[in-house]
Amino acid sequence: MGDVRAEWIDVLERHRPNRERAEGEPYWAPSLETATPERLREIQDEKLRVAVRYAYGSIPFYRRKLDRIGLAPDDIRSVDDLGRIPITTKQEMVEDVAANPPWGTYTAVDDEVWKGRGWQLFASSGTTAQARVFRYTRLDRSLWAWADARALWAMSVRPGQDSALLAFGYGPHVWLWGTHYALNLMGIPIVTAGGVDSRGRARFVDQYKPTVLACTPSYAMYLGNLMLDMGLDPATSSVRILYCAGEPGVGVPSTRRRLEELWRADLHECYGCTEAAPTAAAYTCSAVVARKDEPVSTHLMEDTHIWETVDPETLEPVPTGQRGLSVVTSLFSEASPQLRFLVGDFTTLADEPCPCGRTGRRARGGFLGRADDMLNVRGVTLFPSGVEDAVRRVAEIGEEFQIVVTRERELDVLTVQVEPRPEVAAERHADVALRVETEIISRCELRPVVELLPYGTLPKTEFKARRLKDLRNTP
Ligand SMILES: [Zn+2]
Repeated sequence: MGDVRAEWIDVLERHRPNRERAEGEPYWAPSLETATPERLREIQDEKLRVAVRYAYGSIPFYRRKLDRIGLAPDDIRSVDDLGRIPITTKQEMVEDVAANPPWGTYTAVDDEVWKGRGWQLFASSGTTAQARVFRYTRLDRSLWAWADARALWAMSVRPGQDSALLAFGYGPHVWLWGTHYALNLMGIPIVTAGGVDSRGRARFVDQYKPTVLACTPSYAMYLGNLMLDMGLDPATSSVRILYCAGEPGVGVPSTRRRLEELWRADLHECYGCTEAAPTAAAYTCSAVVARKDEPVSTHLMEDTHIWETVDPETLEPVPTGQRGLSVVTSLFSEASPQLRFLVGDFTTLADEPCPCGRTGRRARGGFLGRADDMLNVRGVTLFPSGVEDAVRRVAEIGEEFQIVVTRERELDVLTVQVEPRPEVAAERHADVALRVETEIISRCELRPVVELLPYGTLPKTEFKARRLKDLRNTP
């Protein structure tokens, strides 16, 4: 077993060029970022073969899973064989941790590894009673720093020029910890803002002049508006890059426009998940973000992860270019090299070349939200991010909104509660409501009831937005 671990670590390290610093402009690791698709496939094949053996040897969850279907690790010779491994869902991990509290058996970290090589514990931001936790190792910390630095480099974040305010509480969420160590690696100073309240952070932006603000899209909206309330203007602040994750942002066109105008900054995002892609396994580049009137797309870091999209019903892979749910295999972790984990966001993978010159596929339009958040209303599939895009196209409407779905006499009713901005005169309210309705109909193919609330009624979103109330099964 120890041998497979050593072999796995050797493979991880061998495919990690430019470990300490970027090669130069414009790529951190050009041998990976501009590799031909054939070369990327070769790397994936080589890493996958060892990853499956390592997972089988050190993760009881996968050993049971492969034994159950009689699949031997050596049966997986290349990415072409990937489909023989069954998909893993969050629910399976929930059941595993319930049966094996408090850690579950789905990582390669047991108590001995944790004591000897452990770095930090992270938890999924799930809503179930028993948290799914992930113990990562010190090697993982180094891997995260390197991968996140590559992503930040693609966004044009540079030492000697930038500094970053990380608006998070340094809690057990993966994303900004990786960013923190990436900035350390890159030699970029951090304006530390954990444990500082939002007004304090607004003053930090004003006084300490970070050029990068890292937070959820909801929080960037909240903090920018709070600055305005405090008589500070985010648009003339030092912030030139909003680096976001945690919820759909850059992929929602009207949210993107609102945030970029509010801050007069470029909105970037990274994408991943606690379980299998705690680093920026997908990220936007400055070439794409510079094209303001075109849809975005997100680069997939294909040397560190294998991304697939699958049909939401059958979980069978769908071809490149067709929409499906995201599935990821990690080729990039000592602690949590998950195989075919269903992350579950809708997206479309595409292989058109990017103007930045990075090869590998991209997620066209970004990621639209977890399938868990998807609703079926009167037979129509609805994403909260679709409603968000519609609502935010109406400039007279404030940032907060809520979606309420009820059932009246066997019929689903979609109510969207919005708040006209205080400066909008009452006689214009009916017109504003009508425009919200029209936008929702054209984007979501559903006629909503639009309910106008006095400005400030809905709770202000700070971290992750909770905008949906489905009351259909509530007596
Ligand atoms: Zn690009």
